[in-house]
Amino acid sequence: MSTPCIISVAITGSLPKKKDNPAVPITVAEQVESTHAAYEAGAALVHLHVRNDDETPTSSADRFALVLDGIRRHCPGIITQVSTGGRSGAGRERGGMLHLRPDMASLASGSVNFPTRVYDNAPDLVDWLAAEMKTYGVKPEIEAFDLSMIFQAVALENAGKIEGPLHVQFVMGIKNAMPVDREVFEFYVRTLARLAPDATWTGAGIGKEQLTLAKWSLELGGHCRTGLEDNVRLDRDTLAPSNAALVKQVTGLCDAYGRRPATVDEARRMLRLPAVDASTAIAA
Ligand code: ZN
Repeated sequence: MSTPCIISVAITGSLPKKKDNPAVPITVAEQVESTHAAYEAGAALVHLHVRNDDETPTSSADRFALVLDGIRRHCPGIITQVSTGGRSGAGRERGGMLHLRPDMASLASGSVNFPTRVYDNAPDLVDWLAAEMKTYGVKPEIEAFDLSMIFQAVALENAGKIEGPLHVQFVMGIKNAMPVDREVFEFYVRTLARLAPDATWTGAGIGKEQLTLAKWSLELGGHCRTGLEDNVRLDRDTLAPSNAALVKQVTGLCDAYGRRPATVDEARRMLRLPAVDASTAIAA
């Protein structure tokens, strides 16, 4: 039987604005509602950034607390993953929400050029974020923007700085970083399997190649990421009406590759995350 596919939905991100697509959820209520619709559509993992707005002016960590609380109550069992990316603050501010104990957090294991800046992940910051994740029992999702970051992830695991098994996301399509390239993608998959045979992985395509990476990931036994953070379009001409619509696009592809979307329980087992006591959830 083939491995069920964990569908991650990156609902907001740090860049897409309402003017790019009115469906981008910004307020806490919008983020919880959008996650719930994506969860009902088949997403098992939500990747989160928070933005400040005038409606609920709070610190970034307080805002994460509100969003995580709403999501945990309305989407029983969904895997919560916070971004510790560069726009969550500078330096150690980027890990300022880890004490909230989300299930997972993103962890870039090296630096890379982004469209207009350097995505700076110095070794001491990577080590510090990894240590904080370990302290609070948060599983890292390694963000691999190039091949060296896969090797760095394995080195972190071997040094005991992060606990295995690794979960790695291969990111392609960001301007000035690794383009969408099939041979490189296959080499990533083979390299991770060689260095860390028990690792799991997700393919994330940014921009118009979002579905290309979803198809390759379904084909090669990996997991899929979608969402308005990565691409505000449903196809080349149509704005995506919602995160749920993007999730449905991926669930609709599964069958052709002999796959099906993972339930939240299956996703938790595959990522070795604890099962959740759903009794604290309220009826959605
Ligand atoms: Zn993100």
